[in-house]
Amino acid sequence: MLGPQDCGCDCAQYEMAMTLRGYNYWLTTTEFPKTDATRPLPERVDVAVIGAGFTGLSAARTLARRGAKVAVLESETIGWGASSRNGGMVLTGMKLGVNQLISMYGHELTRRMYSASLQTIDCVEQIVREEAIDCDFSRCGHLEVACKQKHFDDYARQAEVIAREFNHQLRVVQKDDLSAEIGSSIYFGGMVDEISAGLNPAGYVAGLGRAATKAGAEIFEHARVEALQRELRQGDSGWKIVTSRGTLWAREVFVGTSGYTSKATPALQKKIIPIGSFIITTEVLPEALAHELSPRNRMIYDSKNYLYYYRLTPDRRMLFGGRAAFFPENDQTIRRSAEILRRGMIDVYPQLRDAKVEYVWGGTLDFAFDIMPHAGQIDGMYYAVGYAGHGVAMATYQGQKMAESIAGDKPENPFVGIPFPGAPLGLYNGKPWFLLFAGAWYKFLDWVS
Ligand SMILES: Cc1cc2nc3c(=O)[nH]c(=O)nc-3n(C[C@H](O)[C@H](O)[C@H](O)COP(=O)(O)OP(=O)(O)OC[C@H]3O[C@@H](n4cnc5c(N)ncnc54)[C@H](O)[C@@H]3O)c2cc1C
Repeated sequence: MLGPQDCGCDCAQYEMAMTLRGYNYWLTTTEFPKTDATRPLPERVDVAVIGAGFTGLSAARTLARRGAKVAVLESETIGWGASSRNGGMVLTGMKLGVNQLISMYGHELTRRMYSASLQTIDCVEQIVREEAIDCDFSRCGHLEVACKQKHFDDYARQAEVIAREFNHQLRVVQKDDLSAEIGSSIYFGGMVDEISAGLNPAGYVAGLGRAATKAGAEIFEHARVEALQRELRQGDSGWKIVTSRGTLWAREVFVGTSGYTSKATPALQKKIIPIGSFIITTEVLPEALAHELSPRNRMIYDSKNYLYYYRLTPDRRMLFGGRAAFFPENDQTIRRSAEILRRGMIDVYPQLRDAKVEYVWGGTLDFAFDIMPHAGQIDGMYYAVGYAGHGVAMATYQGQKMAESIAGDKPENPFVGIPFPGAPLGLYNGKPWFLLFAGAWYKFLDWVS
């Protein structure tokens, strides 16, 4: 299993500010379930799930509880992808604001989507409770902070629409009252949703892995799916799946590979843009300072496209993330991000000027071209992807809903069947050559809007 390891940085360069102890702070807090590396793959299963993150494991748990024979195929280890690397913010809403959603989908469908986004939080809480997952789940609420006056003015409009159309209350916080929410004076106001929650994502995904196994699913680590082919077996239609650990046959396939979607599922790969996101974590802070930075312990993010998101960890470190490099994680992007994020953190919180940064890591997000979650079937395979940085709750929910669909139910899922656009003119084969331009474009938008 992944453990704390060297980040690849020339740490001497940051000696004054950074005492990097390792990679991904969350992994230092979590014990992952062990799987048997020598166990052969079963010959035949009802459902093969590709990817052992929130999406895949949530689906595997639900399917196995319904009596299906399930194999989860993971190219690395349980939770290796974004699911163990994220900020642990369990957020209501979607990446796009409600006014934009209404203009894209109309009132009725947006109402169903928003309602589903509220249910996603209950879905995570219910699983954590039922499975007694040790992951510090807490309904601490989230705070969105406005980087410009016009962003703040938009909060009032959004809160009004959400209350009127979806019967859900958000609280707009004027700049003068913001110190009760955050120990930073750079923002123009904020908006609070008390329904959102926080958790330790590595603890959660490890617990989901245990829960899926307890329900009867088998998880195969280091089993990279290399090819899938339609194949009839004993009169049943299904899939021959070639993996790095051997071959198996499955009646159905569910793909939950998110930002790590590969050429094994080319049609899906062409619809997903992998985007890097990075996080630093400070040393443990004194209690009074931690309280000053975030008096209500919220999950916080700002109103920019190129946004910062941050929170306290349960042991009182400041965890500060952002799309510092835009490109997916590697030694170079992680190293560059550490310094960019430290500067960003000090802009928000000058009080942290002398705080040591002890961890830095990165992970890959999955964006669809319309920045929406999507689920359904493609080339005959089931899938759920496109969480755009809102995946802790939505991935868990989509895994569960899609498992119910595979089991033959017709669950309410407003994200199934919405148009799933590819790149304009089809100019994308899964290699995001345009990321540099996209990054510059979003920086430009943040400047002008
Ligand atoms: C740095 C960072 C911060 C984030 N912060 C937040 C946050 O605070 N709140 C929030 O809601 N969301 C956040 N997100 C997004 C969230 O983490 C993801 O949306 C979510 O984890 C997606 O889960 P998943 O199971 O779909 O994918 P993943 O967890 O990425 O899992 C996909 C798995 O598929 C495996 N895989 C890929 N191809 C194959 C193959 N061919 N064969 C076998 N296995 C394969 C990969 O190895 C990987 O383990 C963040 C993401 C990042 C990277």
